[in-house]
Amino acid sequence: MVELVPLVRQFQSMKQDILQAVADTIDSGKFILGPNVGRLESEISAYLGVSHAIGVANGTDALVLTLDAYGIGPGDEVITTPFTFFASAEAVSRVGAVPVFVDIDPQTYCMDPSRIEEKITSATRAIIPVHLFGQPADMNEIMHIADKHGLVVIEDACQAFGSEYRGKRVGSIGHAACFSFFPTKNLSSIGDGGLIATSDDHIAQRIRQLRQHGSQKKYFHSEIGYNSRLDELHAAILLIALPKIDEWNKERMRLATRYQEALRDISYISIEQGPQDRTHIYHLFCIRSERRDQVQDALIHGEIQCGVYYPCPLHLQDAYASLNYKLGAFPVAERMSQQLLALPMSPFLLESEQNQVIDILIRLKGEMTP
Ligand SMILES: *Cc1c(COP(=O)(O)O)cnc(C)c1O
Repeated sequence: MVELVPLVRQFQSMKQDILQAVADTIDSGKFILGPNVGRLESEISAYLGVSHAIGVANGTDALVLTLDAYGIGPGDEVITTPFTFFASAEAVSRVGAVPVFVDIDPQTYCMDPSRIEEKITSATRAIIPVHLFGQPADMNEIMHIADKHGLVVIEDACQAFGSEYRGKRVGSIGHAACFSFFPTKNLSSIGDGGLIATSDDHIAQRIRQLRQHGSQKKYFHSEIGYNSRLDELHAAILLIALPKIDEWNKERMRLATRYQEALRDISYISIEQGPQDRTHIYHLFCIRSERRDQVQDALIHGEIQCGVYYPCPLHLQDAYASLNYKLGAFPVAERMSQQLLALPMSPFLLESEQNQVIDILIRLKGEMTP
């Protein structure tokens, strides 16, 4: 079986260092907001080129706390994409605001900036672009629209740690940015974790307070907050992974090029080439096919794991029935939910495994009737 993401292999490669980190954490007696979280925050803020990085419990909380810190809540609208993991919109609803969707660009699968302005109302407060599958959204256009209308931009960079847009790391472009360290993300730990990046001193201070029950001084609470901290243990593990992230992302890009070259002449598959002004760090590598289900069946039959991201766009989710979006509201997102298929991708994927995937897709060419 070729796995979609060989996670065991990834963490086994660091097992000795991780076990040492666990032992060191036990011996330190510092389990919550200790030196590892502090060191990780300063290393990530330096890596991204922002003034503040704040570790929290997970990527979803990173979005919730950021929205809360900006005072976004009931009566407010936040523009985002319907083609993303549910949490991008769930966080908006969690703070009491309403997610307003705009369709995606068929080349990048990220929010289409030309669709944003028609959705801006007097209630709009923020835009959450998602750097989907590891490829940055059109940040120049989005920042330009946000500036013009006085909106906050919160990057959902959960899938894109280390990717760049016009020479800048994602996470350093919007007013704030959210990352996830969920095990399958490019930079990850063996549990949940998240982080907010911002260069806004005031917002950073608010988020630091919110993650600790609205408290700056122990047992004194200036507001209602959350319990949402990154564990010392996960920070220790992330400190082991962080120095490897550029090399890992490079290996993902190398494997992506290998897929692209090998699959170029297969007519039933298309693969989007992203714009040249940004890097794609392939959190997921997706092919597109009008016969996606047939391709998926052939891969599963050949013992290849593959994945559908995402089978149901957010405007059609049961949880959002009350928003009254109809089928057809976002045709590009709807089409991609029918056509995209993620192939195995990881810096720990072997070339021999990738060759098995490629061979099946090439062999399938003969079986596909035009
Ligand atoms: C993973 C992910 C999240 C949520 O992160 P968690 O750490 O799982 O809470 C949010 N947005 C996107 C785009 C994601 O991929």
